[in-house]
Amino acid sequence: MPKYIVVAGGVMSGVGKGVTSASIGKILQEHGFKTTAIKIDPYINYDAGTLRPTEHGEVWVTDDGGEIDQDLGTYERFMDMDIPRKNNLTTGQIYKAVIDRERAGKYLGETVQFIPHIPEEIKNRIKDASDEYDFVIVEIGGTIGDYENIPFLFAMKSLERSVGEKNMIYILITYLPIPSHIEEMKTKPTQQAIRLLSESGIFPDFIICRAKKPLDIVRKKKIETYANIISEHVISEPDIDTVYQIPLDLEREKLGEKILRQFGMKSRKEPNWEGWKKLVEKIRAPKNTIKIAIVGKYIDIGDYALADSYVSINQSLMHAGAELNVGIDINWLDSKMFEKDKNSVSVLKKYGGIIVPGGFGSSGVEGKIMAINYARENNIPFLGLCYGLQLATIEFARNVCGIKDANTTEVNAKTGAPVIDVQVSQKDILDKGMYGGTMRLGAYAAVMKERTKILKLYEETGRLADDEKRIAELAKDKTQKFRLGILPKEHKAVLERHRHRYEVNPAYIQQLESKGMIFSGYHEREDGTKLMEYIELPNHPYFVGTQAHPEFKSRMGNPSPLFYGFVKACVK
Ligand code: GLN
Repeated sequence: MPKYIVVAGGVMSGVGKGVTSASIGKILQEHGFKTTAIKIDPYINYDAGTLRPTEHGEVWVTDDGGEIDQDLGTYERFMDMDIPRKNNLTTGQIYKAVIDRERAGKYLGETVQFIPHIPEEIKNRIKDASDEYDFVIVEIGGTIGDYENIPFLFAMKSLERSVGEKNMIYILITYLPIPSHIEEMKTKPTQQAIRLLSESGIFPDFIICRAKKPLDIVRKKKIETYANIISEHVISEPDIDTVYQIPLDLEREKLGEKILRQFGMKSRKEPNWEGWKKLVEKIRAPKNTIKIAIVGKYIDIGDYALADSYVSINQSLMHAGAELNVGIDINWLDSKMFEKDKNSVSVLKKYGGIIVPGGFGSSGVEGKIMAINYARENNIPFLGLCYGLQLATIEFARNVCGIKDANTTEVNAKTGAPVIDVQVSQKDILDKGMYGGTMRLGAYAAVMKERTKILKLYEETGRLADDEKRIAELAKDKTQKFRLGILPKEHKAVLERHRHRYEVNPAYIQQLESKGMIFSGYHEREDGTKLMEYIELPNHPYFVGTQAHPEFKSRMGNPSPLFYGFVKACVK
């Protein structure tokens, strides 16, 4: 029977509930337990695929094609594991499942009501995601006191009854403000969060106190008295330079042991934090630092949301940097700036490397193509992710192959040279306007070409071997086998996650190849058509593009091969 750790947040959002939950997961893994994490999102959207990334942060894509909230990404990055889409619950999914079942006559004769049907559905989903694990962390999105997370708290109490009190604990993560005019840490909002939680019958077993500074004895006493919990269970988690420091700090407070003791358990193995510590040290004090430009479209979004819409890219650069002992200084450049003033593209001279990330629509596209052109002609390392590969192909078609009006039909449906075109399977979907969850999503295999720079990176980082193992597993799973497509008998194949509707138009491949572009990997669909997954240029220090989003498979201690290669090239 799995043990459940329910994590809820008090006072306000954005205090690091996700990274704290992920850190607890990492800690329990280190103590020798099979651990997973579930995120509950109380919004009515079915999934995060249709939310605005510049407002909500980047959409996370799982191996099995879920479009999910970023927290699942945080878990994967800390815990170095693939987490499936079923580990994310939204209010929309819960209600849709219950209503669909009602329409299908499954409740015939019954009145379908909030209680018991909604909590029942929540519980079943949590249990379904928990089966093979020792520990399951359930993070409840939003803040205690939000109307919309009440059903989930109610379901937790009900889950507690069915699995037994001794198999469940609650952790409250709260924030202690230090108002600047008094310079004193305040516990009142935390006291209120504790009281609000008690209205749902929940009394936290641990309280983790986020704040600018460490908690002092006086505040600690106040909180423990108010919450009526033992002193050692009030844990201080002050601000730090990098989130990857959090598991180390929590372990210094012996959180792992304390949680285990609360369940009446002991560690299965002595945790070994040496490797992790070294990586954290390299993130904090790297040997040297490189400047990277991420050229994207940044519209109508104040200064704050920027980094959030490309979290996974930031993190991937950081993981690669930690491995190579290089600090990464990221600069966000708006591609529209280059369109307004053509000479401004020379600012790119200052950068060690240029990334063009994923994107949609026509805004800023010409500016991105200018940046790619600059990287190609000036031998600056370049990494193109998804739209980045597509635009790099267009740039090459225009300026090397002389196909002047090369374009993507996403920008110009009537272009005379559709070098990038919509995938055949997507045409009908777009005509019908069925946008939710219908892109080419999740992991797909790519067969790699021998002697390419990209294949070498997958070999060097050990990723090829990992992916081949995973491919063998997928081949046995009837429901996921389509992700492999047709693999030749002898193959070197890798798996990355995707989220796109367009692709390199096969009609232009020969022409592009004849001018020196290398297609380093392809996916062969079950109908025999091939989709180009990678490009590279041989006579350039690092000019690499992928139709995938390798940033979704980069973890602390296990960086993504393409980011690793990119950072390495930037250092040179
Ligand atoms: N807009 C492009 C497509 O749909 C690229 C998508 C992306 O970058 N994720 O194919």
